[in-house]
Amino acid sequence: MGKIIRAISVDGGIVCCAIDSTDMVAKAEQIHKTSATVTAALGRLMTAASMMGSMLKGKDDSITLRLNGKGPAGSVIAVSDSEGNARGYVQNPVVEIPLNQYGKLDVAGAVGKDGFLYVVKDLGLKDPYIGQTPIVSGEIAEDITQYYAVSEQIPTVCGLGVLVNADLSVLEAGGFLIQLLPGATEEVITRLEDNIKEIPSVTKMLSSGMTPEQIAFRVLNGFEPQVLDTAEVEYRCNCSKERVQKALISLGKEELTQMAGEQEITEVACHFCNQKYYFSRQELLKLAD
Ligand SMILES: [Zn+2]
Repeated sequence: MGKIIRAISVDGGIVCCAIDSTDMVAKAEQIHKTSATVTAALGRLMTAASMMGSMLKGKDDSITLRLNGKGPAGSVIAVSDSEGNARGYVQNPVVEIPLNQYGKLDVAGAVGKDGFLYVVKDLGLKDPYIGQTPIVSGEIAEDITQYYAVSEQIPTVCGLGVLVNADLSVLEAGGFLIQLLPGATEEVITRLEDNIKEIPSVTKMLSSGMTPEQIAFRVLNGFEPQVLDTAEVEYRCNCSKERVQKALISLGKEELTQMAGEQEITEVACHFCNQKYYFSRQELLKLAD
């Protein structure tokens, strides 16, 4: 299980969320059989979605992040529930590109920079909230920061990291998300900036054995942080035969009738978890009506 924690500074001015999402990202790699660079891209986006999801207020709220930068990986999608349980999907799971100029997995190269980060929050209202900001770096953490600055006017710092083993399994994944609440003084901002300058990368902190709590406390060093809440999180899909039926109905009568004509039993796999659902010819024809 992954672990997510939220901590707050003693004056209530800064909230920091931190997560160890190693298990969640490992599961994504097992399901989608992603190449290393795509594992990093999908893993970072899911890690961000999980932290953003855990900040939603309503129990049934959910958040969807979609990156579409016209890179070879195509669209990358991550969805989280309000507890931080996330799932993900990527259009092209295998992208083989060289390491970037820093010798790291070239996430920006896989995702591309020519496009948008879309954030959809389903808060149980009639229409979901939809925000979109142009991709600024394609490395994802900066794109999340940019989204909050532009769409929600919340000063935010985001750090994300995924470390992939030579055998393509996931060694470490995690992140942190810091938000300044209104009224933060210059002194607070300067001190926080100094903290952020000093901290090692997320994967370095996780590799050295630091827990999400220790990461959050390190970020909030000097602000007398207190833990707000902690939770266990995992890769979780909410698909069901009923939901798949709804998706099938949206294909339209013509397409469904054609599918029913092609074979006795139609297999439909969930994009997010590969769970298979079977529909008989009669069932499809009934949905077509
Ligand atoms: Zn599923």
